[in-house]
Amino acid sequence: MDCARCRGPMVRERMLDLLDDSGRFVFDAWRCLNCGEVWDPVIRANRAAPPRADAASPRNRPRLRVG
Ligand SMILES: [Zn+2]
Repeated sequence: MDCARCRGPMVRERMLDLLDDSGRFVFDAWRCLNCGEVWDPVIRANRAAPPRADAASPRNRPRLRVG
């Protein structure tokens, strides 16, 4: 998989979403080795849907690598 931003190589990583409403939320995402772009199902869904005024951008949510 290539990065949509810089075409760099991407690797799969396990991410931890600290602000998920249900508590800790671990998910698999792709991260670009060049620019650090993170591509995950939440970002994909948000980019496909119209923007919501009441939702913070998932790109601004704190995340940690867990694996
Ligand atoms: Zn990139």
